Amino acid sequence: MAAIATLQIEKRQIEIASKLYLYGSEATDDIGIAVIEEINRMYNEPEAFVNLSGDQVMVVFNITYKIISTGEAMLRAAVNLNFRNNYIRIENENHITRSFMGYGLGDNVGHWLTTDNLGTSTTAAHEFGHSLGLDHPAVLDFRGSATPPPIMAPRGSLVDPHFQWNPQAIPGEFGGTMNPKYRKVTKDEVLLILNDLSFENDTNIRLGQISNTLFDKTGSPTRWLS
Ligand SMILES: [Zn+2]
Repeated sequence: MAAIATLQIEKRQIEIASKLYLYGSEATDDIGIAVIEEINRMYNEPEAFVNLSGDQVMVVFNITYKIISTGEAMLRAAVNLNFRNNYIRIENENHITRSFMGYGLGDNVGHWLTTDNLGTSTTAAHEFGHSLGLDHPAVLDFRGSATPPPIMAPRGSLVDPHFQWNPQAIPGEFGGTMNPKYRKVTKDEVLLILNDLSFENDTNIRLGQISNTLFDKTGSPTRWLS
């Protein structure tokens, strides 16, 4: 997901704003509401602060959505120059049978599946993290950490028994990996999104990239008709 980070000095906050244009056969208001509720709640929960030349500034996420037709998505994406705008196709399946974002970390397009329980499984929040440039952690064994696994932990990660699909299962075996619903956004992950950003010369900073390349129903890139 691409986004715009804005330094709002009077509110002492940095707002990260994205708009998700949802299209495809399963794009409904129910899905849109659930997805942005999950993302806003999970990313605002840690209340991360950054230090900007001596001032503590809170990082606030403000993500909105709009349902549009596939035709409108094509028209809008073709002329889009705004990093706030993202185009996510919502279907119940695709050729790799999982939700994904587009071309490289931070891209503003994706193909998400309702079968990943968008809005209740943390999948939308995980994909949102990728879209803001976050990668999976280098080490995928979170046992003994005493805290819930971070949002960027991928499926298959090793966790303490009470965060497994089945607490009785042997670690790494069937049922013995992370149930994604236990993931939480950590302060460190929020700060990583803002890593290397400088508000010195500008109060608006663009995050991610905008390929504006839409997907067909099965998750293949749509060819431009020109
Ligand atoms: Zn991932």
